[in-house]
Amino acid sequence: MNLAVVLVSPKTPGNVGSAARAMLNMGASDLRIVAPRCDYLDPQAVAMAVHAGDLLRGARVYPTLREALADRDLSVGTSARIRADLPAPRHPAQIRPLVRGAAAPALVFGPEETGLVNSDLEQCQVTVRIPTGDYASLNLAQAVLLVCYEFLQGVDEVPEHARKTATREEMEATYGHLREVMHLIGYTDAVRARHTLRLWRSLLDRAQMSSAESRLFRGLLRQVQWKVSSVEASAAQPGDGTDARPDDDQAEHRAER
Ligand code: SAH
Repeated sequence: MNLAVVLVSPKTPGNVGSAARAMLNMGASDLRIVAPRCDYLDPQAVAMAVHAGDLLRGARVYPTLREALADRDLSVGTSARIRADLPAPRHPAQIRPLVRGAAAPALVFGPEETGLVNSDLEQCQVTVRIPTGDYASLNLAQAVLLVCYEFLQGVDEVPEHARKTATREEMEATYGHLREVMHLIGYTDAVRARHTLRLWRSLLDRAQMSSAESRLFRGLLRQVQWKVSSVEASAAQPGDGTDARPDDDQAEHRAER
């Protein structure tokens, strides 16, 4: 499975090395580090990686989570805490079929002290929480081990039915476009926009759009933008009643999954 592990701003080199080892143990190899706060090739990290030194050296560093997820078609956040204003986290086993069915999933882990912030979790279609005793905060590398185990165990035995889901880059562009249109038509305002968009992200992420469907959706958004601007223009210049379509690629006729 083409599964990426994304560590957001890890602080302790030993944790990064141990996470690399856990990945190798479970058969994952794509390690991505967002804005590290330590030298992830520090001798401590290499020592903790043991035989996973090559995997560690092959890690890719990204300035932002968004860039680390750009080529992924599913992003799974992890959290020790239940956040009041976000959808409830799921048990990892509950979303195993979703992860197994994805062509390029990512598992996202947070900084040691604070975990992922809400804006990180908003970039994930689903969040998982490993059930624990009262003390819920696992060591970062142990969390990587358990979550990878949940999704990678027995992976060879189960046939994969990879979907052709749009990448996160395409979906983030779609959500950016949706936000613009929401502002344009007064559907939301600066105060409510974040909450409103969170609800729409959750709804549209569940649809697991293909690339063609995301273009279809954006075709509709473009039409709304064009219509609003043409209404504004004809209000300013009465009498110009042209009714052409924008440069839409008529994606609705081609959309297929
Ligand atoms: N104090 C932080 C925990 C940080 S632990 C908090 O309360 O959120 C570092 C990372 O390990 C977390 O961001 C998460 O990615 C992972 N992690 C730790 N415990 C976890 C748990 N019970 N379930 C899922 N992920 C967990």
